[in-house]
Amino acid sequence: MNQDIDIGLLQQKGIKLTVKREDLLHPHISGNKFRKLKYNLIEARDEGADTLLTFGGAYSNHIAATAAAGREYGFKTIGIIRGDELGDYKDQNPTLRFAQEQGMSLKFVSREDFRKKQDEGFIAKLRQEFGHFFTIPEGGTNEFAVKGCEEILTAEDKTYNYICCAVGTGGTLSGIINSATDKQKVLGFPALKGSFLNKDIRKFAQSDNWQLVEDYHFGGYAKVNESLIRFVNEFKKQTGIPLDPIYTGKMMYGVMALVEEDYFKSGTSILAIHTGGLQGIDGMNQKLKQKGLPLIDID
Ligand SMILES: *Cc1c(COP(=O)(O)O)cnc(C)c1O
Repeated sequence: MNQDIDIGLLQQKGIKLTVKREDLLHPHISGNKFRKLKYNLIEARDEGADTLLTFGGAYSNHIAATAAAGREYGFKTIGIIRGDELGDYKDQNPTLRFAQEQGMSLKFVSREDFRKKQDEGFIAKLRQEFGHFFTIPEGGTNEFAVKGCEEILTAEDKTYNYICCAVGTGGTLSGIINSATDKQKVLGFPALKGSFLNKDIRKFAQSDNWQLVEDYHFGGYAKVNESLIRFVNEFKKQTGIPLDPIYTGKMMYGVMALVEEDYFKSGTSILAIHTGGLQGIDGMNQKLKQKGLPLIDID
């Protein structure tokens, strides 16, 4: 569903901004994670696997989505979680609690072991412990995920001049790049620092009609400040659309900042992808409260 945004600044600058509400695709398998899992689940079934194993941090949208998708489509799920100290808090963490409620088994590993997650020895040990499983990488990005994300844009989206999307691993952006037309420009807004992303995206992207806007990561992955929180709350008040602080909030903050500084010509139409991630708000609010920062408004 596409939702047109009515904010004074946009009118003043002659910009049409529309949000693609991928966050509304499914109540638990949020936004781009649904797209990224689709062909992975089909592949797992074709290979005869009955168990999915994947990796993530304690607040990971991908962990939550994989747990819910496993439950809905009849797979057992195993989540390898970064940080062995977290095992003691797994019931206080909203994401991990949700994943367990969906039937996911959690295994906590040290940050050091987590870094070895691609190694054959590490995977072999997991196979000894859990038997046969289909592996989905951290964040869910692989060729199947990119194929799923090529289905985000539809025929009616061809009229937009710009497509804007948050970037973690770049899998979602790659799918969007592959399905955008030559006349469209795709802007990715990384939610983390680092220059490895351009290379990662080139691995999957089949055209060069794209660019990363690297000024709106707010210091790094899951880092937030008061001005971002206020923006997310204000955006919701004005449009009714909730944003998550880790991905879509930073992307939209960046889009509005570019509008403000006349990056886009008057008459430009922009489609911003709401990739979901709202499950992470509860966990973020716990952290904000500890730091004495304002909280993200939820109904
Ligand atoms: C995971 C996620 C992203 C990043 O997707 P990538 O394919 O890893 O770039 C963006 N937005 C939300 C809400 C996410 O959960």
